[in-house]
Amino acid sequence: MGTKRLKLAIQKQGRLAEPSLELLRKCGISISNGPGKLRSEAANFPLEVYFLRDDDIPEYVADGVADAGIVGANILAEAPSQVETVESLGFGQCRLAIAVPKASDVRSVDDLAGRRIATSYPLILRKFLDSRHTEADIHEISGSVEIAPSIGLADAVCDLVSSGSTLFSNGLREIETVMRSEAVLVARPDQDRSSETILGQFLFRLRGVLAARQNKYILLNAPAERVDEISRILPGMKSPTILPLAEPGWVSVHSVIGEKDFWEVVDSLKLAGAQGILVLSIDQMIR
Ligand code: ATP
Ligand code: MG
Repeated sequence: MGTKRLKLAIQKQGRLAEPSLELLRKCGISISNGPGKLRSEAANFPLEVYFLRDDDIPEYVADGVADAGIVGANILAEAPSQVETVESLGFGQCRLAIAVPKASDVRSVDDLAGRRIATSYPLILRKFLDSRHTEADIHEISGSVEIAPSIGLADAVCDLVSSGSTLFSNGLREIETVMRSEAVLVARPDQDRSSETILGQFLFRLRGVLAARQNKYILLNAPAERVDEISRILPGMKSPTILPLAEPGWVSVHSVIGEKDFWEVVDSLKLAGAQGILVLSIDQMIR
């Protein structure tokens, strides 16, 4: 018998497929994928990947065919199953939104009363409309939802959107966000010992990658006499590393800070005399 492997289900083809493989690569796990390939073993980590349709992933995990999976939170909300969300993965961001034809007299959710809404997410939409005490006719279709109004099938749609360009090019105007979603890692709550151990090792790497994505490594040159001022501006993990430069009176300052924080302080850094600021990506951050 071979060694035990963690079975991870990811989307075979579609928006989450490549970012999921990319995330594994960042974790140092290389997977070969090819057309028609349904499963693949990692060469350097006890993991086996199953390539599936995203809608099927929660059930396969719940049934124990796979131990864990990567899927949009929207799929879990529409088809609740016995899986646990372990981690949000920071990609596949989108929102489930209600939209109407540009010329429609519908301005708000209230105006949808008695109208027909086409969607692939009837359960989420029903709950949302109930919470707004609005009764509408939900028409479930499995794809090409955005064309429903133009062919007279519905007065509105409730569909996934990221940039909004698909809605726009179909002559639709968004009126409300029903839910926000992103890719998440799901797992079965009752793993056996060995898959739980591997899942733990996988999560350790994954969290290192996710933490690294939100942070930047900052390098800058500064006049030595202004280092205290600059250290105070940099909201780093610890105090920055300060190294002398060959040029007298100048030092190099190194720090790790959140990307968002960096853009807020960059002007103050320059005012404090910082020069040659380098912003570098980090691959892994193990705390
Ligand atoms: P499958 O063949 O696996 O069933 P699919 O056509 O249902 O694929 P995709 O369109 O590839 O699915 O979308 C997969 C997931 O990507 C969605 O469930 C959602 O979580 C996420 N997503 C991110 N942005 C968008 C978007 N603009 N439109 C649709 N899905 C999006
Ligand atoms: Mg699908």
